[in-house]
Amino acid sequence: MGQSPEVLISEEKIKARVQELATQISTDYADKGELVLIGVLKGAFIFLADLSRRLAIPRHIEFLAVSSYEHGSVRSGAVRLVMDVRRSIEGKHVVIVEDIVDTGHTLHYLIDMLKSRNPASVRTCALLHKEHKTEVDVDVDYLGFSIGDEWVVGSGLDYDEKDRTLPYIGWINSAD
Ligand code: 5GP
Repeated sequence: MGQSPEVLISEEKIKARVQELATQISTDYADKGELVLIGVLKGAFIFLADLSRRLAIPRHIEFLAVSSYEHGSVRSGAVRLVMDVRRSIEGKHVVIVEDIVDTGHTLHYLIDMLKSRNPASVRTCALLHKEHKTEVDVDVDYLGFSIGDEWVVGSGLDYDEKDRTLPYIGWINSAD
């Protein structure tokens, strides 16, 4: 492989921000019973692992996976569930954990789908948000960092399955 991706957000900054998010979530959900954290595969697995280990409240981990319909390289915005959670979320407090919110279609679909299962509440947590690419408005209740339009890798995010386990958030400079 060629050069390593350029550093956009360092490992230290990610660690510090994840700790802040965990502290905030622990405060918000103290005394609310077990929190269900639902990670969206594959990209959220590292963020979810880091975040969940820093929570100071009882929590249960679930995963689901989605795929977006594509026509060539153009994403239509339609999202399909390809793997579901293993337990009922009825009556539970839920936080969806995403790697990155881009157009917002994925998170919008997931919020609607999970709300229809009668949980006590549904909130959202994302490591990254490309705010000016929003096509559907979704609230990210717990956000790591806002970034620009660049394609980013690392901390669970890949480029064609590469660079997923980089400890920092990097970006691919296509001019390289
Ligand atoms: P949305 O439905 O919000 O447009 O898309 C969210 C999904 O797009 C993310 O879960 C992720 O899989 C993918 N995605 C969007 N931008 C990036 C990026 O810069 N890097 C990577 N690796 N995935 C991205």
